[in-house]
Amino acid sequence: MNIAFIGLGAMGYPMARHLAKEHPVTVWNRTREKAERHAREHGTTLAGDLAGCAAADVIITMLPTSKEVDEIVDRLLPHLKAGTLWIDATSGDPNVSRETARRLAAKGVEFVDAPVTGAVVGAENATLTIMIGGSAENFARSKEILRLNGKTIIHVGDIGAGHAIKVLTNTIMGATVWITSECLLLAKQLGIDLKTALEVTNAGSGRSNASENLLPMRLRDHQWPLVFKLAHHDKDIRIAASLSHQQHASTPMLALTQQLFTASLNELGEGADYIEVAKIVAKMNGTSWD
Ligand code: NDP
Repeated sequence: MNIAFIGLGAMGYPMARHLAKEHPVTVWNRTREKAERHAREHGTTLAGDLAGCAAADVIITMLPTSKEVDEIVDRLLPHLKAGTLWIDATSGDPNVSRETARRLAAKGVEFVDAPVTGAVVGAENATLTIMIGGSAENFARSKEILRLNGKTIIHVGDIGAGHAIKVLTNTIMGATVWITSECLLLAKQLGIDLKTALEVTNAGSGRSNASENLLPMRLRDHQWPLVFKLAHHDKDIRIAASLSHQQHASTPMLALTQQLFTASLNELGEGADYIEVAKIVAKMNGTSWD
């Protein structure tokens, strides 16, 4: 199966590497040097230009948002051939994806949204969870390829369903990071040692991925690596908020989470990691985690 992989960022770079173990993979990246390095290091083929990706049986995009995916679709559309499968692994917007799928269908190109969860470490170790929206047939075609990237691959529903559940699960994570940071800060202010507060939380009902894995190294050990851009997380929660509006749903916690993350992004800037929102929690209380 000839695969073209577009977008060799933090996630795409290792994902394309795993695919190349079983398939001929052509790579394209906006910053060409990354694609050149990928071809050199992982035996992939450097696309001469973007149009060179159109000859593949399967095209995979791993870009920041649906906007960049759409721009790539615009550029590739005149070159695409019927029967191609387009897998969009971006954490995108389901409304945009449905429209993209319609545009591709007019050229006989099939589409699935296949966002992932499991962070960069999951992409590196090929242990991602992948949630797919599309027909049963295209799910089966996608799964056969994406099994090289993930352990758990789930058919969520029609086109857009993968993108929808992805932004919702990230919203759950965002709200959990925020409330856990608030409560741990309050515990600290009440004179409870942070290590002890974490120990109790993780032995009790407040336990979560945030309290077990994400927050201890930052709050307790003062290490703040960049693993997932706050800008991407904020984008996901804003998509979730727009879906809520669309459904006329009452989701006050979701709305508040979106407001808090967008405010944090405005304060911390584009280069921040998503867990740095905990710094804003502290700042709102006139203190820091130091
Ligand atoms: P990165 O910012 O590391 O990479 C983004 C990629 O998109 C790069 O290859 C970049 O090219 C390319 N790109 C950016 N803008 C454009 C454009 N206008 N035209 C063409 N290419 C462009 O992002 P990640 O890999 O971290 O994230 C990708 C997606 O995966 C996002 O939707 C994110 O929400 C999602 N995701 C990320 C996770 C993570 O932990 N990082 C976990 C799960 C999902 P260039 O090299 O030139 O900058």
